[in-house]
Amino acid sequence: MLRSDVLVVGAGPVGALLACILARAGRSVLLAERGRLRPDAGSNPDTRGYALSAGSVTLFEDLGYWAALKPFATPIREVHVSRQGTLGTVSMDADSQGVSALGQVVPAARIDAVLAGELARAGVRLLEETRFESLAPAQRGRRQAVVAGADGDQRISARLIVAADGIRSAARAAAGIDVLRRRYDADALVFDVRPARAHQGRAFERFTPEGPLALLPQSDDRMNVIWVAPTDVCDRRQALSEFERVAELQGHFGWRLGRLQAAGRVGRFLLEQVRARSLYAERLALVGNVAHGLHPVAGQGLNLSLRDVATLAAGILRADDPGAREVLAAYAAARESDIDRVAAATDFLARGMLADGGLMPHVLGAGMLALDRLEPLRRFFAAQAMGLQPQPRHLLRALPAARKAAARRGATGRSRGAPA
Ligand SMILES: Cc1cc2nc3c(=O)[nH]c(=O)nc-3n(C[C@H](O)[C@H](O)[C@H](O)COP(=O)(O)OP(=O)(O)OC[C@H]3O[C@@H](n4cnc5c(N)ncnc54)[C@H](O)[C@@H]3O)c2cc1C
Repeated sequence: MLRSDVLVVGAGPVGALLACILARAGRSVLLAERGRLRPDAGSNPDTRGYALSAGSVTLFEDLGYWAALKPFATPIREVHVSRQGTLGTVSMDADSQGVSALGQVVPAARIDAVLAGELARAGVRLLEETRFESLAPAQRGRRQAVVAGADGDQRISARLIVAADGIRSAARAAAGIDVLRRRYDADALVFDVRPARAHQGRAFERFTPEGPLALLPQSDDRMNVIWVAPTDVCDRRQALSEFERVAELQGHFGWRLGRLQAAGRVGRFLLEQVRARSLYAERLALVGNVAHGLHPVAGQGLNLSLRDVATLAAGILRADDPGAREVLAAYAAARESDIDRVAAATDFLARGMLADGGLMPHVLGAGMLALDRLEPLRRFFAAQAMGLQPQPRHLLRALPAARKAAARRGATGRSRGAPA
């Protein structure tokens, strides 16, 4: 049997980051991932560019990880939100907000690569190609999980198990936590294009009758396209040649950046909204997509998840027992309202903006014109739409302690996470 303070299930960006923070603070951490990590961004099939809020960037900065991400990050200097078929446009720029950037776009593959490297440095014991299978009830301050790998089943005993295994979480199901689930009748096609005119840090969100279409600025003068449409429309578009697909995109996006050219593979993502009925069970916590899956219209999912990570990590670092009920209850109490607010705003944007009949387009068109003249509303809309909500830094106060602990550990060469 393997023993650790914390077992994290799932090494997506959320599980990997939480594992790094806790290990650097001196906790013994096991991380079980059903696939293999991707230290080489070039071979990662994920085509997404993540719009990170100022708060998410602050978290990466506080942990010392931003330096490795920054060379691949593209600042968002302006956001334009429009609706196809109406005249209204909402726009916001960094200068008028008194900030240097409204957010940063970082390729998902770069985040995976940086975290893959940091896990080893932090001293996380990684079990790759190891699938979470089942849970036993908590006993004497610990909980056991069974994971399956190439060598068969293995039992792990931990004081806390963190379920970070994504929207279809097996760990969440094993803990008996129900979810509210809504499948949007839409998927997202995600790929890069290169426009003839430089994007100059502009991001665009366009609400089309089929669904939202976003273009995020990327390095090398590329833009990352997130194109949401009903599944049958996505099937058809996926089957088109690159040239035909981009020509169709141009028809929806228009010519504000000149001719668009395809610049990479197409990824497809199924879209659903998921909300766990509880963020914790006995000696088990839910983070990231396990707790809340969102439509990508507002670019909020990872930003919200990183606030889960910061809050749970801060609570654990303050406590002797990482799985104590008070720690988990405090985590849930601190996170519920943020999750509810962001999930409701995101769902409104995803569904409300789709409504095509009646007065809706005209109301929205007029509403957008009005929004452009009403500063507080404009800010709210653009911030929600692009996932640019700042994060209060006080949530992160406990984390610098992790850096100091890591430095002390480096000096003494202490090792952790020994098998029992
Ligand atoms: C098209 C699109 C665009 C997006 N854009 C943005 C954006 O701009 N900004 C933003 O903030 N968010 C964005 N998001 C949201 C973001 O992708 C998610 O919030 C993020 O992926 C959540 O990470 P996670 O680690 O919780 O889950 P995941 O990334 O799903 O990781 C889960 C991990 O668990 C592993 N796993 C699964 N089952 C098991 C098991 N049984 N045992 C062991 N391991 C297991 C998986 O292999 C995976 O590695 C976008 C999402 C989509 C779909």
